[in-house]
Amino acid sequence: MVAERRKNEPGIDAEEVLAGIVEWVSIESPSHDAKSVNRVVDHVEGQFRDLGLSIERTAGVNGFGDILECRTPWGEGSGILVLAHLDTVHPIGMIEKDLKIRREGDSVFGPGIYDMKAGGYIAYYALRHLIRQGKKTKLPVTFMFIPEEEVGSPTSRARIEAAARGHRYALVMEPGRDGDRVVTSRKGVGRFVMTVKGRAAHAGAKHEDGRSAILEMARQVLRIEGKTDYARGVTCNVGLVNGGTGVNVISAQCTAEIDLRVPTTELAEEMTHWFLNLEPIGKDVEVSVEGGINRPPYRKDAGIAALFQKAQTIYREIGKELRDVPLTGGGSDGNFTAALGIPTLDGLGADGKGAHAAYEQIYYSSLVPRTYLCTRLLETLE
Ligand SMILES: [Zn+2]
Repeated sequence: MVAERRKNEPGIDAEEVLAGIVEWVSIESPSHDAKSVNRVVDHVEGQFRDLGLSIERTAGVNGFGDILECRTPWGEGSGILVLAHLDTVHPIGMIEKDLKIRREGDSVFGPGIYDMKAGGYIAYYALRHLIRQGKKTKLPVTFMFIPEEEVGSPTSRARIEAAARGHRYALVMEPGRDGDRVVTSRKGVGRFVMTVKGRAAHAGAKHEDGRSAILEMARQVLRIEGKTDYARGVTCNVGLVNGGTGVNVISAQCTAEIDLRVPTTELAEEMTHWFLNLEPIGKDVEVSVEGGINRPPYRKDAGIAALFQKAQTIYREIGKELRDVPLTGGGSDGNFTAALGIPTLDGLGADGKGAHAAYEQIYYSSLVPRTYLCTRLLETLE
């Protein structure tokens, strides 16, 4: 009967949740546009201030927006860290073109709605829902909003890690997955830049004097992509290549940017060592590599399994079964907290599809269950 009562629990109003999400989505906020990101930060800051939370806003650096931290005035000791990012991958103007905010059946479209303004708003709504009912969380809660997650959180990583050390749990509001699924593990992410220096020469008159950086890079690309090993869960992608100065010039320089995904710390170290020690394949060229792991692997350890079980128990209160996805290649700020040994549950945001794509959407039907899950996690974690 308890389950029945909870299923019909009044208060979480899907229309109200959606209206709040749409407000956040209406303010477009590409990662590299600090002014626009800060407009959403202003909006979110005001909402948490109105709930009576204490606000700490750290000015953005290197062209990124501000980091926002909102803390409950109650609770002592280490509590719950709720992580969300307010930036999106979509350029300004998407909202008037391919990603107009609109509802079609169960799908609601908009730039960054799935990844991850819906999740961020759900966390806010969950706390507000508790406060409205005269309830409190048992533990203190810090809501942390990141301005540049989509580019790897370069300016907020240290802050996230420092915050994580002072908390007992981390709840990450990144998009939910494939039905009633959350995330309990993620691969680690590495980024490398390879630079090849060759020797320029006239492509007609002095071809034999040239040493083509592009030719060397082509060989290196084959070697790097050849390290992809699905059986071991390792993937390498040369995503950007830039070289040469003219069609009739033997290229003197070429650079490539490489994305690496690995499931374990051991493989992260092995692959990093491999990348940083790559040598030239051809003659008379120089090869150098910079970079490293920017998001450590996030493994489902005992603490994470226990937190996931707790979430499953809550989900059963509304008659639904929560599952987790197999190891995903997509990184998040949850990688930082999990790598520090903080039990981390990720993918708690709305379900949907099309992250980073022009058909990005959330499923309206997931709003109430997901908000319920977040509310009860905040309420009951101790
Ligand atoms: Zn995201």
